[in-house]
Amino acid sequence: MRARHKPWADDYLQEHPEYVILNPLDKKGKWRDVFGNDQPIHLEIGAGKGRFVMGMAKQHPDINFIAIELAKSIIVSAVEKAVEEQPKNVKLLNFDASDLRDLFEDHEIDQIYLNFSDPWPKNRHEKRRLTYHTFLTQYQQVLKSDSKLVFKTDNRGLFEYSLMSFSHFNMLIDDVSLDLHEDNDPLNVMTEYEEKFSKRGHPIYRVEASFKS
Ligand code: SAM
Repeated sequence: MRARHKPWADDYLQEHPEYVILNPLDKKGKWRDVFGNDQPIHLEIGAGKGRFVMGMAKQHPDINFIAIELAKSIIVSAVEKAVEEQPKNVKLLNFDASDLRDLFEDHEIDQIYLNFSDPWPKNRHEKRRLTYHTFLTQYQQVLKSDSKLVFKTDNRGLFEYSLMSFSHFNMLIDDVSLDLHEDNDPLNVMTEYEEKFSKRGHPIYRVEASFKS
């Protein structure tokens, strides 16, 4: 996802500590205190401009959502949405999710979403794919047992790779769709990329997988 450099982004993030967690490493093991309740916590990695997390938060007020996005110039759009809609159950992190174990205690998270993750198609970049086994190890550690990893993409190569990666990791495949929009799931919340690529006629692939306990 590309965005113009926004020199005001830093100040804008600092001005909204009600949504942007500025020192997330300090919150490890304390995320329930951050939300002030014991609701389950769902995590989105690579949240982009925040359409998915905001839609999910509205649809599931009984779930808390944390969305992590690396690019400052992109996450500001998610913060703008939060400022407008004022959800009580969303926190946004401008952070590199390269090791989730820095952010979360073991089993602190109830579900993880990867939406339209960067495909990194070259073999030499395999380690950067968010479904590479080193990432799966982290997800397993921060997730509660039997919790799900939910992955959507329009990229067939990354989808096939991810199914293989889950299988080699001995995960259970709980559900697969090879054309999510054809299935007409009324609860599906679209992401920005999902809208863009489905308008171009790309099928959207989705898998729900869990780690064996
Ligand atoms: N999920 C959004 C959507 O579906 O519209 C954005 C998809 S975009 C292709 C991938 C996003 O993941 C980019 O905004 C990128 O900055 C973010 N990203 C990539 N690696 C990341 C990482 N290690 N930590 C946090 N965000 C990351």
